Amino acid sequence: MPKHSPSSLNPRSPLVLDTRDLPRRPGALRTVKRVVPAPADLGVELIGVPEGADLDLDLRLESVSEGVLVSGTITGPVKGECGRCLREINDSVVVNVQELYAYENSTTDTTTDEDEVGRMQDDLIDLEPALRDAVVLTLPTNPLCREDCPGLCPECGVHWDDLPADHSHQQIDPRWAGLSQLTRKEE
Ligand SMILES: [Zn+2]
Ligand SMILES: [Zn+2]
Repeated sequence: MPKHSPSSLNPRSPLVLDTRDLPRRPGALRTVKRVVPAPADLGVELIGVPEGADLDLDLRLESVSEGVLVSGTITGPVKGECGRCLREINDSVVVNVQELYAYENSTTDTTTDEDEVGRMQDDLIDLEPALRDAVVLTLPTNPLCREDCPGLCPECGVHWDDLPADHSHQQIDPRWAGLSQLTRKEE
């Protein structure tokens, strides 16, 4: 694979930052505040940002000697499922981004790996990979509808909140015994 794929970034794409009006002089600053639609599959298995939802970008672009440092926050709604009781979760997430994008043919470009330091394509920055990494790191792999969610009774699948305090399954109806064995096997 060639080190640089030919520029394929679309400057009008919502998660592409155009730095043409940012002087390539260390210290030069520009802020980017915009609301963009979330790309598909932004999240983890049980929780994520719905496709097309509003992502609020509040970013600072700063020229450094080897490229552009992008920092700031991205805020968006998340939708998911409680890992214990499967109830729907509606929440929001704020992710912090801090990422250096090296100028093409800068020393950083020629001496580092693309996995370590991002790359600019001409004057464009593709923010999407950094956004994805940050979102995945921020979202819980086992989201809960609330901190102390008691989950479901493993026998009948009813939420403990909806069951009386003395709920138990000491006497299993013989007609269900086979079924409960099946459930156990799956565990
Ligand atoms: Zn729950
Ligand atoms: Zn039960």
